[in-house]
Amino acid sequence: MPRPSTDPARAHRRPLPPGTVVGVLADLLDLVLPVACAGCGRQGRSVCAACGLAAAPRPHPAAPSPCPPGLPPCTASSTYGGPVRSLLVAHKDRGQRAARPLLAEALAASVAVAAANVPWRAPLVLVPVPSSAAARRRRGEDPLARLAARAARRLRADWPGVRVCAVLRPARATTDQRGLGAAARAANLEGAFVATPAGLPVGAFVVLVDDVLTTGATLAEAARALRAGGCAPAAAAVVAATARRAAPPGTPPRRDRPALA
Ligand SMILES: [Zn+2]
Repeated sequence: MPRPSTDPARAHRRPLPPGTVVGVLADLLDLVLPVACAGCGRQGRSVCAACGLAAAPRPHPAAPSPCPPGLPPCTASSTYGGPVRSLLVAHKDRGQRAARPLLAEALAASVAVAAANVPWRAPLVLVPVPSSAAARRRRGEDPLARLAARAARRLRADWPGVRVCAVLRPARATTDQRGLGAAARAANLEGAFVATPAGLPVGAFVVLVDDVLTTGATLAEAARALRAGGCAPAAAAVVAATARRAAPPGTPPRRDRPALA
């Protein structure tokens, strides 16, 4: 799949803290300078119509194979690949905020399906998978937390009390997940998160959120940490899930996932 052919000076621009003078100026520059689509690299718009259509939400159940123990029922809006992959990588690793509204819409659609059976009056809470401190410093922000916040705003029409509670945090350093198989990912993430769910509302319907579901190891570890803290997540929701099937023994690992936060 062709990678976006964006202007290198812009494509490799370090993420700028939103809300700062520098961040606001960067947004203004995006308005007046020629831009390339974050999904396909075509000049003209920050997200072109074709890539927007490709990333349109189509919520569906998603389960990796093999499915790690403890992974909550998961809903994805897209299959991870093509423009959707490029948009997610641009948003997460290159700080391209133009893709955020589209991705937030997709995440909100996944959450809406995941929370379809939320009990009457139960508060709906989104718990994002945490970024490492190093990733946060490198990116200048936590893209998933921003995505979750935007998705929550989108969901408030149907769930007025929905909120994001960042009750998970890294318990230790982990290595980059790229290139690791399912077993290695699970081992890398064992005990990686810790939960402090004291701030969660009583009786909350908790939906874990992440950008991509690959082997399920990250979400399974996040669910384990929440359970260990006394709060079982009811479901999980992601923007996209890999079209993964059980691979025969000896199959080389795939290298198609963005760096783990
Ligand atoms: Zn495009």
